[in-house]
Amino acid sequence: MLPDYRVRQRDTLIEITRAITSELDLSVVLKLIVQNAVEVLSGHAGLVTLIENGRRYAVRQSYAIPAPLLSQLKPLLEKAEDVEQAESILERNLITIAKEFGLGMWQVVSLPLRVREDLLGRLYVFRVRGGTFSANERSLLQMFADQAAIAVYNAQLYQDLITEKRRLDAVLEFSADGVVIMDAAHRIMTFNHALVQMTGIAAADALGKTFEDVIVLGNRRAGMLLSEAEANGWPLTGAALPLLVEADILRAGGKPVSAEIYFTALIDRDGKLANIIADVRDISRFREADAMKSTFMSVVSHELKTPVALIKGYSSTLNRQDAKWDEEVVRNGLHVIEEESDRLAKLIDDLLDASRVEAGGLKLIPVELDIDALARDVVRKMQPQLKTHRLIADLPIDLPLVHADESRITQVLRNFITNAVKYSPDGGEVRIGSHVTPREVVISVADQGSGIPPDEQKNLFTRFYRADNALTRKTQGAGLGLYLCKAIIDAHNGRIWVESDGKSGSTFSFSLPRA
Ligand code: ADP
Repeated sequence: MLPDYRVRQRDTLIEITRAITSELDLSVVLKLIVQNAVEVLSGHAGLVTLIENGRRYAVRQSYAIPAPLLSQLKPLLEKAEDVEQAESILERNLITIAKEFGLGMWQVVSLPLRVREDLLGRLYVFRVRGGTFSANERSLLQMFADQAAIAVYNAQLYQDLITEKRRLDAVLEFSADGVVIMDAAHRIMTFNHALVQMTGIAAADALGKTFEDVIVLGNRRAGMLLSEAEANGWPLTGAALPLLVEADILRAGGKPVSAEIYFTALIDRDGKLANIIADVRDISRFREADAMKSTFMSVVSHELKTPVALIKGYSSTLNRQDAKWDEEVVRNGLHVIEEESDRLAKLIDDLLDASRVEAGGLKLIPVELDIDALARDVVRKMQPQLKTHRLIADLPIDLPLVHADESRITQVLRNFITNAVKYSPDGGEVRIGSHVTPREVVISVADQGSGIPPDEQKNLFTRFYRADNALTRKTQGAGLGLYLCKAIIDAHNGRIWVESDGKSGSTFSFSLPRA
């Protein structure tokens, strides 16, 4: 039979233990542990150290230890490599330090907090003066410590779980891929940030609805829809392989997004489908790049074929041993060969420039540039090559200087003029004009050609784009000229644009900031 006070002590202990083990907040658990351990043993102060990061002791909670004593003990304890060292540190220092602060004799009882074989830390109870801790008191405290250790262990696990969940939530929320988690009936439980961006649908509007109601797929290119796969037994038959579908996500009032969606099934312990996770990857850029590659191949091969065929044709004709050509024919043939070689060289230059733009922009060598002189020079050099077109340089001689790359600006102006000539087959005037604003100098090239319909104008500056009309089909070109002009003007922080009513002529302009 236990004496009465022991029974009371035990009952209190059971009550306290119950309160402690039902708590999951680690700092609250530790506070309850030290406080109650001290009270049960009629001690004066206590502390808990926990082993963190493998071996080091960290003082995680203290109770009623005077601040000066704690601040001396804490670093000493935290330096300890193991239990023995910690104990001997306490033995050696406790009484000395306590004395130093006029706190008299201190005694300590320390017990391990252990769950199965794992040592989690130690519980210390200090008593001022009184007799030494009896064997009974020690065993009582050990009983308490064993329960307390379980509470610490659970709270630590719970804390780890929360941290892990937060980490996973963050990964999920900020993943570059869209992620949807749904239940077995396809009801959406999680709809991450990337998907909100991709679909334009707010997470709050998606939650609770079915996947199919929120993500509307069209133009399927590969794979199976979720409903079809499930009708075939997915994922409960055979190996539950992830399901892949490639299709467009159709958006109300927006451009469809090309996407690749992986569905992964989570099966519960009873073998039933618990959740489906959809990983939605926006592959628009790959598809655009793919389309661009095909355009590139067809444009380049087409643009290469014509000059190469002409060069080959004229050179083999002129080279025939069985024929004698008069001088006129030879000169004409060589002229074509020269022209077509120039065209090839220009195409190669443009392709190289385009790949430079793609690789991170054009390098400029800017100087203080007298742009009206440059424009007049271009006109003077180009005019003699033109038969049915008249170039008019309508430029004041005192345009402000600009800070620009001379050869690149020449390239832009030549391109504008070449196009003006190319796309006004009936000839006419090509007027090179200018005006000045407080911040910019604007140069424009106006022709009397076919004009460009307003809906096509915004596309002219994209790579390989050629307007869809009879005239463009008749003329040669790779659709790179205006793209490069825009890249050059962008690199100068200028603007580039076209004006045309779509019937009578076009005006292409660019502006450069004033030096
Ligand atoms: P390319 O001339 O090699 O086709 P560009 O990039 O210079 O390529 O021009 C893109 C398209 O813009 C041309 O194919 C043509 O349809 C249209 N375009 C350019 N300049 C003019 C112009 N002055 N008048 C009418 N259409 C033009």
